[in-house]
Amino acid sequence: MSAKKIARRKPVLARSEKSLNGTRPTVPASERRLDFGERWSFAPALEAKDYIQLQSRYQLFIGGKFVAPRSHVYFDSINPATEEKLAEIASADARDVDRAVKSARRAYEKIWRPMPGRERGKYLYRIARLIQEKARELAVLETMDGGKTIKESRDVDLPLVSAHFFYYAGWADKLQYAFPGRTAEPLGVAGQIIPWNFPLLMAAWKLAPALASGNTCILKPAETTSITALHLAELFQQAELPEGVVNIITGAGATGKALVEHRDVDKIAFTGSTQVGKLLIKAVAGTRKKLTLELGGKAANIIFEDAPIDQAVEGIIAGIYFNQGHVCCAGSRLLVQEGVFPAVIRKLRDRIATLRVGDPLDKNTDIGAINSRGQLDKIHELVDSGLQQGAQLVQSPARLPKKGYWYPPSFFTGVTASHRIAQEEIFGPVLSVMTFRTPEEAIERANNTPYGLSAGVWTDKGSKIFKIVGELRAGIVWANTYNKFDPTSPFGGYKESGFGREGGRHGLLPYVALS
Ligand code: NAP
Ligand code: MG
Repeated sequence: MSAKKIARRKPVLARSEKSLNGTRPTVPASERRLDFGERWSFAPALEAKDYIQLQSRYQLFIGGKFVAPRSHVYFDSINPATEEKLAEIASADARDVDRAVKSARRAYEKIWRPMPGRERGKYLYRIARLIQEKARELAVLETMDGGKTIKESRDVDLPLVSAHFFYYAGWADKLQYAFPGRTAEPLGVAGQIIPWNFPLLMAAWKLAPALASGNTCILKPAETTSITALHLAELFQQAELPEGVVNIITGAGATGKALVEHRDVDKIAFTGSTQVGKLLIKAVAGTRKKLTLELGGKAANIIFEDAPIDQAVEGIIAGIYFNQGHVCCAGSRLLVQEGVFPAVIRKLRDRIATLRVGDPLDKNTDIGAINSRGQLDKIHELVDSGLQQGAQLVQSPARLPKKGYWYPPSFFTGVTASHRIAQEEIFGPVLSVMTFRTPEEAIERANNTPYGLSAGVWTDKGSKIFKIVGELRAGIVWANTYNKFDPTSPFGGYKESGFGREGGRHGLLPYVALS
């Protein structure tokens, strides 16, 4: 039987305590549905999109201009909520990559490197302000192209995008104070490859610190979400950013590979899967290229018995269900201390039944579309493995739109550490719940993964927070909150989650040589 069939056949829309603890529910199916979503429905509140000017074709952005690819090849970008084609995107080949690198090199040697930091900073401030002015339009585009809710793109992504440019604009003329007693020099030409879950935010994380510290950039957005980067390029033109300081080349993995392999690139910054990250380590070995990697994660959210349970449940919701679970630092494993397990599960089950899944442009929507068919298939495949390995699935009864790619908010109980759903990144709105008895067991379980990006701790006791945080092998640990971001705070992983930090003063380090 196919993965999809199994995943769609078995979910339990449970109401009885028993079923949540692993036994099959005994109440009839009709009584097992929790239709909060329908009873408490909201009138549609669609964000306007009639003013959005999508181009039918997007070209490459090289040397400050939009240029056709040498390859003459274009691919479609679709709206994952409707499966409608939005535009055609240029596919850059090795010749286009070479053009972009040459343009970045010229801009580095002739303009950007010799320019005083305070002048570079002015461009960054200008870009930050333009992003603020265009924030609503960019948020709508982000939602249309990527499937994330307007609530998230408008209230989280775009404010953080401009905040990152503002923050690093401030460092541009203060580099000599960033690393006391040492001199920071730019590295040169930076190749930057980003994924599809936070397209503009990942672009900002990469571009802002690189530009502030005097490097020039070639950005490669993800294949399914290139459009907003090209609208950002228009803002670079409006800001009169000198030609070639930022170049944007679109395309699939092969374009990224050509960028990584180009001989005249000094630095590669990559955010994406651990699998591709490992390829990049091999590709740059023995070259002068510096590398930073932000890879996958399998974060544990740990709830102790003394935690404020209602707040913790909201933290879990923010940690895994918003942005469809398309978050590398998503709290995708929930570790609950045994005494509060029934209460947490009951509240979680009731809460996911209230989450609204549907049109991402509707301001009331909590869970938007899965970014691509490929990603949806991956979620189905892993959920299927969870069912086959014996875990129990609890799913929201949300009705999913007929067109587009969707997955309802779900969680697994009866998960053991060896299950694939406890080890591998699902990258969808699916949580794996496990229990623990002692703090030591929680730490051991939390660390029992190849990843080490993030974690969460929920407890009333400050001393417990300090103990646990000190022993978790994770780059970021949130205490009594989850998924909070700030440009001043460094972000990055341990183990197979990568190396290097983005954000804060630490975020300058990958782009400078210190002497
Ligand atoms: P991915 O397949 O690794 O892709 C990431 C980027 O690399 C895309 O632009 C992709 O292009 C490109 N790429 C693919 N193959 C390449 C190659 N051989 N050489 C150079 N570039 C190549 O990852 P994804 O599936 O898009 O993104 C999801 C992953 O990103 C998850 O594992 C998630 O945890 C991770 N992530 C990590 C962070 C973090 O900060 N740690 C943040 C967000 C996401 P195409 O799109 O054209 O394939
Ligand atoms: Mg798209």
